[in-house]
This record gives sequence, structure tokens and C-alpha cells, in this order.
Amino acid sequence: MFAIEYDVKKVYMGRLEHGDDLLESLQKFVEDKGIKMGIIQVIGAAQRATLGFYDGNRKVYEKIEIEDELEIAGGWGNISLKDGKPMVHLHVVVSNREGRAFGGHVFEGTKVFACEFIIKHLEGPVLERALDDVTGLTLWKQT
Ligand code: ZN
Repeated sequence: MFAIEYDVKKVYMGRLEHGDDLLESLQKFVEDKGIKMGIIQVIGAAQRATLGFYDGNRKVYEKIEIEDELEIAGGWGNISLKDGKPMVHLHVVVSNREGRAFGGHVFEGTKVFACEFIIKHLEGPVLERALDDVTGLTLWKQT
């Protein structure tokens, strides 16, 4: 276990456009702003979603495709470096008209209906992701 202290450098509150790809548009925003470490929160609605479930035995993501109008009941994630580039790591819980929820790791293909986001740009040591042999995931490595 490890933890690092950060200060909040700046907070952005914004809105994505109807039809945007949730992950790609946030990824582009953080690259444009040069955010290497950060915290992300999203709420809103989606026209469809592509989420992931990580199969820890096979060490692969299984994709969950949801073709339905959805609320983005909540989403949160972080920004750090992978292969020297900022990477948005985002999870969401989405719900349908019955209020039933699905959740998981957000992949490209989650299409925004409307979405409000908050991004906190952090100041401090930059965490880099590296392949973790135990899990097969790219996790933060302690430097
Ligand atoms: Zn994830």
C-alpha cells in the first residue's frame, strides 16, 4: 500500500456535447490542458454504453454493450500517466428506466446524451502506470 499527497491546482466544471464519446472527449480535454494527475467526476445521461468487467482469472476485459437510454447515475475516475501520456481511467454506474443499474470500466463507445463533469487538476508527484504481473492490469507503480 502507498499513498501520496497532492494539492488541487485547478478545478474545471464543464459539459460535454450531445453525441460525444464519453471517454474520448474527456481524454482529449485532459491532453489539451496538459493534466497529468487528476480526479474526474461525471453525471448525466447516455445514449448507449460500452463498459468493461475485468476477468481476473483470464486477465482480460469482457465488454458489456448496453443499447438503451441510460442515466449516468455516477462516474468517477482519475488521470495519471501511461506510456508517458495522460490516461483517463473512468468507471460509471448507469441506470435504465426501471432504475436498474449496470456498472464498470468505461470504454470508447459510451455515447453522451448530456453530461456534466468536474475535473480536479492535481499538483504533486506524477504517477505512472506499469504492467502488474499479479493482476495483469496496468497499475500505479511506486517510485
Ligand atoms: Zn477500470
